[in-house]
Amino acid sequence: GKRIGVGTIQFVTKDMDDAFSRQIHIEKALYQALEEKHFYLEYQPKYELKTDRLIGFEALLRWHHDELGQIPPSEFIPLAEEMALIVPINNWVILEAAKQLKVWQPLVDHSLSMAVNISPNQFRSESFINTLRNIKQQLHLNPTDMILEITESLVMQQTEEIIARMNQIKRLDYRLSIDDFGTGFSSLQYLKSFPVDELKIDKVFLDDWLASKSHLLDVIVHLGKSLNLHVVAEGVEDEEMLDHLRTTDCDSFQGFLYAKPMPPERVIELLTHQKNE
Ligand code: C2E
Ligand code: CA
Ligand code: CA
Ligand code: CA
Repeated sequence: GKRIGVGTIQFVTKDMDDAFSRQIHIEKALYQALEEKHFYLEYQPKYELKTDRLIGFEALLRWHHDELGQIPPSEFIPLAEEMALIVPINNWVILEAAKQLKVWQPLVDHSLSMAVNISPNQFRSESFINTLRNIKQQLHLNPTDMILEITESLVMQQTEEIIARMNQIKRLDYRLSIDDFGTGFSSLQYLKSFPVDELKIDKVFLDDWLASKSHLLDVIVHLGKSLNLHVVAEGVEDEEMLDHLRTTDCDSFQGFLYAKPMPPERVIELLTHQKNE
């Protein structure tokens, strides 16, 4: 009995050590990755519901580490956020995604948008507005083509400051989207006063509809449209879901059913193929 017990404890301790040393390892590696440019982006297409037309992309951060392999954003972004490294990393994301949009836009004859995920610390950082202004000037960008996705939980904190910052961003003509909408318990009263352009409905509401045909999804779409917002559904994985969304006023969607996040080479193929159709 005792031997097994000790063995079990050792095993648990070793596991915890491994988890802990993996975290330390990742933190060190994050600095290095930024310096040595080991981050890259994949792009997930976004489609208009009425026409099935490709209308834009969401840039998603990727990291391949030589020894640890592919590390998912859900694992390294919270660490980078704690270390304040998220600000330079995410500033790079915006610039890189904006550059890609400049390259891709001429390949099609309708306008494309590019969405990037903004971390709470980046959003609040002193330098953020300057960064956005610099990118706009440096790239001669039409900022209305750039969509900054902020999470609903961020929006719900310190609302006065957050609204002031949102207004600064809107004055630079960037578009604002509330990501993971419906999961952060927004006050509807505040929602009305936010200078946002878009709501992205979280996948949990699509899953909920699939599981129980719950009306919540339709209600949220309706809410977004009553506030005159562009409404996006994310995580569309099957035809039944898409067919149902087409019965609502939802504007656009993303999901594995049509396209997974993909490297820039694939995007070029997709865009040149579209044009030839
Ligand atoms: P998110 O912004 O909600 O992004 C959507 C996530 O859902 C992405 O995961 C995407 O690959 C995945 N997804 C898209 N369609 C489907 C689908 O049909 N089914 C399923 N099951 N999943 C789908 P990913 O790329 O692993 O990103 C996870 C999260 O990491 C993102 O959630 C976002 O919060 C964060 N993230 C990604 N890139 C960045 C970045 O550049 N900066 C910051 N701050 N966060 C990022
Ligand atoms: Ca997002
Ligand atoms: Ca989301
Ligand atoms: Ca999410």
